Amino acid sequence: MSTPKKPSGCSSCGEKSCAAAGRRPDESPEEFADRQKLARNLCGIRHKILVMSGKGGVGKSTVAANLAAAMAADGLKVGLLDVDFHGPSIPRLMGVEGQRAGVGPEEMLLPVRGAGGVLVMSMGLLMAGAEQAVIWRGPLKMGVIKQLLRDTAWGELDCLVIDSPPGTGDEPLSVAQLVPDADGAVLVTTPQDLSTGDVRRSVTFCRQVNLTVLGIIENMSGFLCPHCGKETPLFKTGGGRALAEEMKVPFLGSLPMDPRVVETSDEGRPFVLAHPDSRASGAFLTAVSPVLQMVKQGKET
Ligand code: ADP
Repeated sequence: MSTPKKPSGCSSCGEKSCAAAGRRPDESPEEFADRQKLARNLCGIRHKILVMSGKGGVGKSTVAANLAAAMAADGLKVGLLDVDFHGPSIPRLMGVEGQRAGVGPEEMLLPVRGAGGVLVMSMGLLMAGAEQAVIWRGPLKMGVIKQLLRDTAWGELDCLVIDSPPGTGDEPLSVAQLVPDADGAVLVTTPQDLSTGDVRRSVTFCRQVNLTVLGIIENMSGFLCPHCGKETPLFKTGGGRALAEEMKVPFLGSLPMDPRVVETSDEGRPFVLAHPDSRASGAFLTAVSPVLQMVKQGKET
């Protein structure tokens, strides 16, 4: 397991296995310097986990926010980076909507401390109005994703959770390429999407970019009635596990549809913090426990 290195500068590091240790033949000196700056900035982060989904609206940001909050509640130093520009919902989920990221020494962006002490960075913390629609074209978005990774002053973290753009296009591709030493990806899906091939495409995508699939979480699998506590499977269940077996990736678990998830999300409180004893929290913590263990095991004592 990797140990934290002081982001003091590539020249003093001497880590030969680092992707930024040497200039690639196809790189200009400027591109190399830029890549080194990115690597240096992420160097003090022991684990990097991408949260991905085949499409939007499946609860990817909810999972990313609660994963970060669960780690922080376990005493880990955690950052949460929102590079899903389609709807930067992380500031709202982490209770920092309306706040603005500051600028520190060397023009570095200062993350905002959100729910549970998680350090948050998002386009939503840089834009003038939360309702401002992002209509930039591809290359500009790619540049901003890189900037957020390279220019955010994370300091030393146990884990950075990255809420990636949905799908398998250029945007998630650039995230995967910019973080070559990521531990892997947590894939979020809903039971309805299992048949559409979205998850298969996401797994294939991860394999193509050499990103380990840490596992699949099936979200909104069954409705948890807030009145009687009964769980009703609204859609076919068990598909996530079957698909994970078929694709030979871990199935982490299922998360029920619980109206309190929406409620607490809108209030800026991740549900694992707001309702730690609820069935939804229990299911979520069980699902992410292998990921949590992986991060905790690497922690220096
Ligand atoms: P994505 O990031 O995939 O677009 P979000 O995390 O923004 O999806 O979730 C979409 C909507 O679904 C939000 O309103 C969120 O509160 C709600 N949601 C997500 N997971 C659950 C759940 N398990 N139970 C109830 N509502 C949920």
